[in-house]
Amino acid sequence: GREWVLLSRPVGWPKPEDFELREAPVTEPGAGQVLVKNLYVSVDPYMRGRMSAAKSYVAPYELGKAMQGGAVGVVIASNDEGVAVGDHVLHFFGWREYATFDAKQAVKVDPEAAPLSTYLGVLGMTGLTAYAGLLRTLSFKEGDSVFVSGAAGAVGGQVGQIAKLKGASRVIGSAGSDEKVKLLLEEYGFDAAFNYKSGDVHTLLKEAAPEGVDTYFDNVGGDHLEAAIQNLNRDGRIAICGAISVYNNTEPAPGPRNLARLIQTRGRIEGFLVGDHYDLQPQFVQEVGAWVRSGELKYRETFVEGIENNLEAFLGQLRGDNTGKMVVKL
Ligand code: NDP
Repeated sequence: GREWVLLSRPVGWPKPEDFELREAPVTEPGAGQVLVKNLYVSVDPYMRGRMSAAKSYVAPYELGKAMQGGAVGVVIASNDEGVAVGDHVLHFFGWREYATFDAKQAVKVDPEAAPLSTYLGVLGMTGLTAYAGLLRTLSFKEGDSVFVSGAAGAVGGQVGQIAKLKGASRVIGSAGSDEKVKLLLEEYGFDAAFNYKSGDVHTLLKEAAPEGVDTYFDNVGGDHLEAAIQNLNRDGRIAICGAISVYNNTEPAPGPRNLARLIQTRGRIEGFLVGDHYDLQPQFVQEVGAWVRSGELKYRETFVEGIENNLEAFLGQLRGDNTGKMVVKL
């Protein structure tokens, strides 16, 4: 089977020469192991961080070794009594066609309950990120207004819709194209949305939120964060989920110039990591699963076909080629 290997640590935007798609042997499962054929492979912005050597909350990818990431596949050989051939599993050995690993590292998923790709997105890691970040980190409550950036992406689209379903007074989103803005307004039910490429984010946000914002869910960083601080209401909260606008920077990005506004507003900024919030998983699956089934919560997926396009899918996500969750379909 083929697998993607990191050859050198990218500087700035990752280049094709930093990677190699190589042929690797498919190994039979040892005691307690399973052999899985991947069907859907996730690409996620945090993987950019793992391509660098800097220490973070997950270890950097090792040079010369297969990269990792979320994936859903079907078990084609099992040497573990808890997992049967034909079972579908969520696991962490993406960026490859076949994976052999301990059955303990696999979570069974039900293809009858939901399309398999959704366990990577709306019902998976990005969904829980939206849920935990909004409800726990932002302490969202009914009547709050919510601004979310990256709003047509996997996490952002779900943040805005959950906020609406839970009684937000106003939901404002930003995204990188007019088509995405249209999706936010016409399909996801946002109250206001703007294309951040069409002007200055400060001005665009002020127009979209004339009464300011109570909460900001930040996927982007940079001038979006500064604009949110500028338009934050009294006792406002900001959750730092991601900072995709700076992930390929070679120099540290300048910080928000207006932090002192937090004094006036008694504002609070807090970062969070989805990995700390898996205790919310059962509640998330129940509540969000019901909204997805009833159609109250809409979601999009962008599929790129073939393991040979895994890298291109990843880069495309950083550029904004995706609407909703970016998934590689094998
Ligand atoms: P998305 O589906 O949102 O895809 C990334 C999107 O980022 C692109 O579609 C693009 O949309 C947007 N983007 C790219 N460059 C810029 C830029 N310079 N300015 C503004 N927007 C940009 O990805 P996810 O939903 O998976 O992730 C969203 C964020 O959440 C990321 O920052 C990610 O790192 C973070 N994250 C954090 C987690 C945590 O535990 N804290 C867990 C999971 C994700 P557009 O066309 O609108 O530019």
